Amino acid sequence: EPELVGDFGILMDWADKLRRMRVRTNAETPDDCRMARQFGAEGIGLCRTEHMFFDAGRISAVRQMILAEDEAGRRKALEVLLPEQRADFTAIFEVMAGLPCTIRLLDPPLHEFLPHSDSEFADLADATGLGVDHLKRRAGELHEFNPMLGHRGCRLGITFPEIYEMQARAIFEAVCAVQKESGEAPLPEIMIPLVATRRELEILRALVERVAEEVFEEQGARVDYLVGTMIELPRAALMAGEIAHEGAFFSFGTNDLTQTTLGVSRDDSARFLAPYVDKGIFPRDPFVSLDIDGVGQLVEMAADRGRATRPDIKLGICGEHGGDPASISFCEEVGLDYVSASPYRVPIARLAAAQAALAKA
Ligand code: PEP
Ligand code: MG
Repeated sequence: EPELVGDFGILMDWADKLRRMRVRTNAETPDDCRMARQFGAEGIGLCRTEHMFFDAGRISAVRQMILAEDEAGRRKALEVLLPEQRADFTAIFEVMAGLPCTIRLLDPPLHEFLPHSDSEFADLADATGLGVDHLKRRAGELHEFNPMLGHRGCRLGITFPEIYEMQARAIFEAVCAVQKESGEAPLPEIMIPLVATRRELEILRALVERVAEEVFEEQGARVDYLVGTMIELPRAALMAGEIAHEGAFFSFGTNDLTQTTLGVSRDDSARFLAPYVDKGIFPRDPFVSLDIDGVGQLVEMAADRGRATRPDIKLGICGEHGGDPASISFCEEVGLDYVSASPYRVPIARLAAAQAALAKA
């Protein structure tokens, strides 16, 4: 297993003494969390829970949930997923004991969960007892022409609240269990994705708080937690002063924020972006290195507006830019509290955060 030793280890110690910003990791498996901690991660900045839903043993229950006719059908599928999610979070919380863990509630483009081939529909019909015709009709109803701008993120939580309820329950049951066992629980930071309006966050924060109280009552235990949001839409950045009334933290989702601000698809940009960089239209690929002139203004504005409403609001970044040195330097300028990067980028982020702090000093 990787470890930072020798001269490199010494250099990293120096970096840690100099930097102001914390460095977290984007991870959703215990193995990645362990590795990131060895690389010096001080918490999880983004746990993408939809990745857990793609597990081969679960996808049938996930599809059943999405394609169910009504709430009762969804709840039946969610009963299968609850213990699985509880086990996911317990394993992660054990590794991250004592550290903050930002768990993002489900944010899939819905089409990634839908069955496509006839054999997938047939398998699902077998597993669920639902007819192929019903499943195909529901899949047709859920089809979207532009899934990345569609029924994803908190929009799922608004329309299917039982999904977010299940996830919140799994998180709180897992934290209470780890707390009971080891006496050292992590701080869960429950993050609502793709928020555009204050009301979305208000509704979903109330949902999380209700579930928390239910679980604390059942368990006879209580743990600290935060509810906050991603800022990944221009409207959220503009309305950050309002949105901060409902959330204790903001995490900048600069992948989507870049996509929605530039109007450039993050999935298709490779086809045409290279000449843009060659011609100096963008100094670097804006999905790799933050477009500081444009997207950066939205980040800075949202940070300022968020702090004006809630001076102690926690601010971080969890888009790919959180592992890019030039972007990290900008995060220091704006005064973010932490950056979050994929495990292998954690050492780079620690160094870059130190260089940024030195440059600012
Ligand atoms: C983002 O949009 O920057 C983000 C971190 O979320 P995801 O990449 O999962 O959409
Ligand atoms: Mg996103």
